[in-house]
Amino acid sequence: MPLLNIVNCLDPILRKKCQRVDNIDDSLITLTEDMIETMYDSSGLGLAANQIGRTSDLFVIDVGIEQEKRDPVVIINPVITASEDEVMGEEGCLSIPDIFAEIKRAQHVEVKGYDLRGNEVRYEAEGFLARAFQHEMDHLKGGLFWDNLSKAKRDMLKRKFKKKLKELQT
Ligand SMILES: [Zn+2]
Repeated sequence: MPLLNIVNCLDPILRKKCQRVDNIDDSLITLTEDMIETMYDSSGLGLAANQIGRTSDLFVIDVGIEQEKRDPVVIINPVITASEDEVMGEEGCLSIPDIFAEIKRAQHVEVKGYDLRGNEVRYEAEGFLARAFQHEMDHLKGGLFWDNLSKAKRDMLKRKFKKKLKELQT
C-alpha cells in the first residue's frame, strides 16, 4: 500500500471544511487503509482526510493509545456528542512538524460516526485519546490546533514553523 503525502499547515486545504461522505466505496476503503499506514509511518496517532489532500469528512485514529496497543479505526462523518471537564496538555500535529504547544481541551468526549460498513459507532474517550479526537475534529472543520491559542502565540509558532521549513529546504 502506498504512503500518502501529508500536507503542511501552509496548504489551504487544511482550512477547508470536509464534506459529508454519502457513499462508502472501494476507493474510500483503500484510501483509509493508506491513511492508517501513513499515520503509523509518521509516528502519528490520528490523521484527518484533508491532511492528505482530500476533503472527505473522515479521520483515522489509534484508539489503543491509552492501552499502548495498536487499534486503528476509521470514523466517517464524526460528531462530538458530549464533552466535559477542561484540561491543558501538550499537542503537536503531523502537518506542523516539530511544533508543540499547550492547548486546552475537554478531558472527556463522546464521539459518534460511522465505520467503513456504514454502521454507527460511538467512542467514549478521556485524556490523551479525548485530546486526539478533538484535534482530528478540528481538522475536519478546517481548524488547526494553534487556532486555540492567542494570535500572538500562534504567530510566534508560525514563524518558528516557517523557519524550520526553510532549514529543511536548504
Ligand atoms: Zn493535526
